[in-house]
Amino acid sequence: MVVIKGIAASPGISIGKAYVLEDDEIVVNRIELPRELLRAEVKRFKSAQKATHRDLDAAEAKVLKLLGKQHAKLIDAHRLILRDTLITREVPQRIIREGVNAEFALSESLEAVNQQFEKMEDEFFRERRHDLFDVGKRLLSHLLKQSKRSLSNIIDSNCVLIARNLLPSDTLGLHESKISGFATDLGGKTSHTAILAQSLEIPAVVGLSDISRRLKTGDQVILDGDQGMVIINPGPETISKYQRAQQKSLQDERALESLRGQPTVTLDGKSFRLEANLDAPEEIKSILALQVDGIGLFRTEYLFLNRPAPPLEEEQAKAYAGIVKALDPRPVVIRTADIGGDRLADLGIDGPKNETNPFMGLRGVRLFLRHTDLFKTQLRAILRASLKGNVRILIPMVSSVGEVQSARRLLSQAQAELQAEGADFPKKIELGIMVEIPSTAMMLEAFLPFVDFVSIGTNDLIQYTLAVDRINEHVTHLYDPFHPAVIYLLDHVIQTAHKKGRWVGICGEMTSDPQAVPLLVGMGVDSLSVSPRMFLRIKQAVRSLRYGPLSGFAAKALACSDSEQIRRMLADQGLQ
Ligand code: PEP
Ligand code: MG
Repeated sequence: MVVIKGIAASPGISIGKAYVLEDDEIVVNRIELPRELLRAEVKRFKSAQKATHRDLDAAEAKVLKLLGKQHAKLIDAHRLILRDTLITREVPQRIIREGVNAEFALSESLEAVNQQFEKMEDEFFRERRHDLFDVGKRLLSHLLKQSKRSLSNIIDSNCVLIARNLLPSDTLGLHESKISGFATDLGGKTSHTAILAQSLEIPAVVGLSDISRRLKTGDQVILDGDQGMVIINPGPETISKYQRAQQKSLQDERALESLRGQPTVTLDGKSFRLEANLDAPEEIKSILALQVDGIGLFRTEYLFLNRPAPPLEEEQAKAYAGIVKALDPRPVVIRTADIGGDRLADLGIDGPKNETNPFMGLRGVRLFLRHTDLFKTQLRAILRASLKGNVRILIPMVSSVGEVQSARRLLSQAQAELQAEGADFPKKIELGIMVEIPSTAMMLEAFLPFVDFVSIGTNDLIQYTLAVDRINEHVTHLYDPFHPAVIYLLDHVIQTAHKKGRWVGICGEMTSDPQAVPLLVGMGVDSLSVSPRMFLRIKQAVRSLRYGPLSGFAAKALACSDSEQIRRMLADQGLQ
């Protein structure tokens, strides 16, 4: 039995057989396809070709910048290979003739050419086969990326998925599969992959460094998403211990059920709005059952991931209207898409690709202000959906007042267009900003004339304040919500907004940590938007507190020089 410690990313226990997803190694299986699917398979191959051309363009720009024209010629050679009839004609012909999948047809064609290269006497020409394989590998990885999305096709039921890394777009696909949990080498607690796992109620442990190499498919494992560890080949006693823990946590959850519909109020009568974060539409049923006060953060990125083109206005309006109607009259805060960072979407636009620091790059409102057509389409869809209930608009990753002014201008344009088209929509809609960049938190007063409310995104605010990448497992120990600088900014934002009569919500993962709740309650925030999984537990935490003694706590915490002292102070008050 071997125990590997990692980072607890999504709670719950899963016991089962491992399925190790090969990531770097490209494994190509021969799959025979029925006749009627062959045309679609050729189309899939052509779209991988297009994506590879785009890769080469990006690679060329990079090489040009770093190494100059001479070296960029190599990319020309790769482009020629990609245009060669071997790729453009022979692979599609093989798909049709042999009735097989594109990956297999491509690898067969590459192997045939490889054998010809190997026979060549001239070393220079013989070595060109590496270029051919380079291009072939790029093509294959695009093809496999597409098929990896339907993990449900390859994974046995009830297994624990083990991978080097999973992207948010992969994780979205997991709810269709029957996996009971996942563990990855890479990743941090507030990565979007971890957040999605919580939303989809899949137990997960990340940051395990080399688990994907230590396990093989079929090994027995226990994944403990509460403690953040994976046990390989557990003995019978350990298995029964974990089975008992599974039962106990089910009982604990049932015990919280009586809190549904009860007010979120402290023992001394201070009320809070307790809302839920919504990341994927599948969650709506359980969110409604929790009797939430609203949706404090509707992350709309799921609509943009895993597709070659952005969703049209009609599709978006329908998706938003469904949620808004289900919640009416309770509010739904719809956030415009925060694409970028670790949520990369290949939308066929000149978007963030191969950035060195994607979390500091073209993300959220920055990307949408470059592609105002996308921004306006989403705003129009939100406006149309807002007829069905109570909607607020939230803009992510704001770092300057100019961005808010531009967003407002686009909103007015969207309203004017809808009016001219005779469409029905409410004339007044609240617009708020995410405060998740330290400069915005510090300068909040300058933003307030342009916004109706603010929502603090602690996931990013902590990462940017402490310079700790939220998805990097090597610095997880430095990702500290109790750091005095974080507390200072939270308190500053809440007090500054309140002075100007704006309400403040918090929607980062910090709201779902029962240990952080006393601090947030003491700051007098108006709304806590939490992961649905933790909703009742957080309600229980608020209902067990007294607001009075906590109201000065943030000020006292600010006198501390490190988070250890702050945690100790909370513990002294019996709060941790
Ligand atoms: C945040 O940054 O806290 C937040 C809620 O946004 P996201 O996690 O989607 O970046
Ligand atoms: Mg954020």
